[in-house]
Amino acid sequence: MTDFLAHLSSWAGVLGMGLLAVESLLSGRFSWLTGRWSIDGVMRLHQMVGRAVLVLFMAHPLFYFLGDIRMSGSGLGLGFLALFALIAVVVMALSRDELPMRYEAWRRSHGLLAIGALGLGLAHARSGGWLGKAIPTVHWALVAFTAVGLLALTWIYFVRPWALLRRPFRVVGLEEVADRTWHLRLQQVSGPSFDYQAGQFVWIKSGSAFGLHDHPFSIASAPARPGSQPGPVALTFLIKAVGDFTKSLGQHCRPGRTVYLDGPYGTFGRGLVDAPRLLLVAGGIGLAPLLSVLQARRDWVTAYGGQLVTHLVIGNRHPGQFFPNDELTDLPGLGLRVDCLVSEPTADWTGGVGQTDAQGLGPLLPQDLAGWQALVCGPPQMMQTVQDVLTGHGFEPHQIHMETFKT
Ligand SMILES: Cc1cc2nc3c(=O)[nH]c(=O)nc-3n(C[C@H](O)[C@H](O)[C@H](O)COP(=O)(O)OP(=O)(O)OC[C@H]3O[C@@H](n4cnc5c(N)ncnc54)[C@H](O)[C@@H]3O)c2cc1C
Repeated sequence: MTDFLAHLSSWAGVLGMGLLAVESLLSGRFSWLTGRWSIDGVMRLHQMVGRAVLVLFMAHPLFYFLGDIRMSGSGLGLGFLALFALIAVVVMALSRDELPMRYEAWRRSHGLLAIGALGLGLAHARSGGWLGKAIPTVHWALVAFTAVGLLALTWIYFVRPWALLRRPFRVVGLEEVADRTWHLRLQQVSGPSFDYQAGQFVWIKSGSAFGLHDHPFSIASAPARPGSQPGPVALTFLIKAVGDFTKSLGQHCRPGRTVYLDGPYGTFGRGLVDAPRLLLVAGGIGLAPLLSVLQARRDWVTAYGGQLVTHLVIGNRHPGQFFPNDELTDLPGLGLRVDCLVSEPTADWTGGVGQTDAQGLGPLLPQDLAGWQALVCGPPQMMQTVQDVLTGHGFEPHQIHMETFKT
């Protein structure tokens, strides 16, 4: 029994270390993953694997304890430090929004604690673990796991920023277009062509390409028209002022400043630009990636002809959050219908009143759902409500595509 528990314990530790290394690849910063899967999917997996690592790391000493196996000396201390580092990572991740610390500080601690847990775990296994000594492959696997974590951090913070230096962008416009909503225009200055698909996002790095200050924003403009020559691109973004970075955009993204774009990432809207019937539901600033999809859809019709059906529903709290939108008036061939809903109307508001819930959105939905696809983007709570309304109305899961503005 003791032998069995010793094996169970050691393998739990080794598996935990392996999964912790996988976690560093699920950080949302690798385009071979986040360019194929949605950022929401990658982040969900990241959170699930994080919990599994914690369970395995806790099971490791527990099985030893149950088997009455003793370990002492520095190996024991290192093991507990690794466990504490991991508990801190998970607790800080679960309570991120409640912690009184800036996102950048949180992110730095998250990465450092996770790599610390890997390093301490390796040191613990080297000084006290018997499995790595009995099976050399296990020892080398643990070294490889730690190396993967370190390489992932090196890639994110050194190699990738160095590559971004070759492709600078200049801020050519920054305008407040509605209540706390900014329209940002960037022009690529030089470097390899920046290819993206409608609905994707980038991490905008202002100041230095090597800085920790980068924030994800969806591209609100459309990619190059089908058949056009590759070359420097112009991009637009819609940004809502919510916190440290976005409330001081005038400073970080002052016209004339150089910024760097890490990306593009994400799969939101992929394959849906030419969907025959497309419903787009935007909650507030969630309109940004949908504008990109709408314009790409217009370019697709211009290039290939045909007639599509498109229905855009925009939900905002008050009328001041809507802005004059040229992108929405120049969309021939889309069969576009736009419905605007506000929950707090003013006396002169002539649009719809309500939220994107069963009462507000429900009556606007098509009766015959054949061929319809729905793209939804907005705050997490609104997304859940819209998903429930669409599902209740008869949309199948494969007809609903969502992106949450949260990593
Ligand atoms: C895929 C994706 C696309 C997005 N697209 C847009 C968009 O088009 N327009 C828009 O206005 N907003 C968008 N956001 C949200 C935007 O990234 C945050 O509002 C912004 O980073 C807030 O930063 P802050 O310092 O101003 O606010 P803070 O008060 O520091 O942060 C508010 C919240 O934003 C999140 N956040 C902050 N910094 C980061 C960061 N560096 N990386 C990831 N999350 C962070 C955290 O959850 C934090 O709790 C998007 C988010 C994601 C994940």
